[in-house]
Amino acid sequence: MSLPVIQNPAVVEEDPLDLMDEIESLKKEKDASILAHYYVDGEIQDIADFTGDSLKLARDATKVTTSTIVFAGVHFMGESAKIMNPEKRVLIPDLHAGCSLAESCPPDQLAAFQEQLRANGRDFHTVAYINTSAAVKSLVDWIVTSGNAREIIDRVPKEKEILFVPDQHLGRYLMEVTGRKMILWPGSCMVHEVFSIQDLLRAKRNNPGSVVMAHPECPQNILELTDVIGGTEKMRRHVMATETPTTFLVATEAAMIHPLQKAAPQHTYIPVPGIMASTGETCACNRCPHMSLNTLQKVRDCLRNGGPEIVWRDYYAKAREVLDRSLL
Ligand code: SF4
Repeated sequence: MSLPVIQNPAVVEEDPLDLMDEIESLKKEKDASILAHYYVDGEIQDIADFTGDSLKLARDATKVTTSTIVFAGVHFMGESAKIMNPEKRVLIPDLHAGCSLAESCPPDQLAAFQEQLRANGRDFHTVAYINTSAAVKSLVDWIVTSGNAREIIDRVPKEKEILFVPDQHLGRYLMEVTGRKMILWPGSCMVHEVFSIQDLLRAKRNNPGSVVMAHPECPQNILELTDVIGGTEKMRRHVMATETPTTFLVATEAAMIHPLQKAAPQHTYIPVPGIMASTGETCACNRCPHMSLNTLQKVRDCLRNGGPEIVWRDYYAKAREVLDRSLL
């Protein structure tokens, strides 16, 4: 007896231009604005009302005049938009777009560790990188981004110790630039963790005279070979201020190349890692798997369906106090 042939339902690829048109009219119909992180696909950034890094978008979220925000990024960013706009409906294209860095610091473990430090008589402030869940934000004293970390750390009274969560690499870098000793939470981002020193050395060899730009979440051995260390906004400002056409090796999420190219098209941008030894071609293996869950189709679907939605939780109010104190 022969088995019936089961056919997979055809996956329908929709035309990106049609999707963009549909999104434009849905935005009007649903009274919505789109906020897109620099790490999502360029075509989503092109239809967004605001693009930026996490700090810029957290600030932009307060300027939105529509009743709905679609946040193309990852979950904790959608939470921040909701925290800043409790009365607005905040939608995200894919609920599974999490963040390995945020997940490396679960709130119950942080609370237990803080308790243990207090029981040992330690007098400290907890400083959290913005890539944390709202539940973690509600447990800390300060929130920083790579753009404002120095300024905020200078605001922590000198007599206090600092517990820095969740990114150990960013924490180590901040200890160096601020001269403050910190207790470091052992978290990291899976994307920035994969940059290997070999990839970077090879990229430098293949591109003599190039300038290395790296995100401070990169491991220390990468930062030691870096010419410009900075968050996404600092990178953008740096390339705009550089007039001579330059080759930049960019060690951060590969979609960052898009806003850099837009801001300063006179330069050449090469994502690191990604220079194939054999062919010299570049690849984008450092794409964040969470950010890339955002697609034009899902942006359209969440506008059309009104979900998934970030709903208000009680602890958002405490997180709001900390965000207000730290970011605005
Ligand atoms: S690049 Fe890293 S820190 Fe950023 S969202 Fe992805 S996993 Fe999180």
